[in-house]
Amino acid sequence: MERQPARILDKRNIVAYWSAGEDECGLGVDWAEAHERCWRCGYKSRLQRCHIIPHSRGGPDGPENFVLLCRRCHREAPNVPDSRFMWIWLRSTFVSFYDLYWTERGAEEFEEMFGRPPFSGPDFSEELLPRALELLRTEISRAVVHWGKGRLNPSTIASIFALVEEGLTGFRIAPPSSSARNKRFLHAAGFVASDNGPRS
Ligand SMILES: [Zn+2]
Repeated sequence: MERQPARILDKRNIVAYWSAGEDECGLGVDWAEAHERCWRCGYKSRLQRCHIIPHSRGGPDGPENFVLLCRRCHREAPNVPDSRFMWIWLRSTFVSFYDLYWTERGAEEFEEMFGRPPFSGPDFSEELLPRALELLRTEISRAVVHWGKGRLNPSTIASIFALVEEGLTGFRIAPPSSSARNKRFLHAAGFVASDNGPRS
């Protein structure tokens, strides 16, 4: 039997298929906007059709085998011949508000880079927070204009957090002496007894 090429499948057909049976509760998008917002991060983007079961693993080209994702989320989506994981991933990694997902990922990356959450350092007082958030919004939209949304990966956003914080406190942010990820890895691998560092 001849297959229908995926490219003729309209995005609205994919939305219509899933909105008929799948609950939008717990997704990053409302079905009403699902033809223009990424189903994972909820950002307005040029959406890509993402196979749920990869074409190369026998996934069909009908709407039942597609979700709509932005380029960044498409790259991170699970690529296995079992459709459960796409939906588990979509429903377990979203945030409840539009246009905040990647800022949140940037904050997580900041924590990896500097060992603490952004806007929480010893030189940062709480009164600075409203100004910091305002500057952050400005700097992120400026970066989007320069680079395009798809270029703002979590480490770029984390660096913008750091620049805003430094601009407000006048102090340079010092990275931690050792990486939090590596500490967790060593701990999980049994090399580290506690947070006090490697066993001697
Ligand atoms: Zn996305």
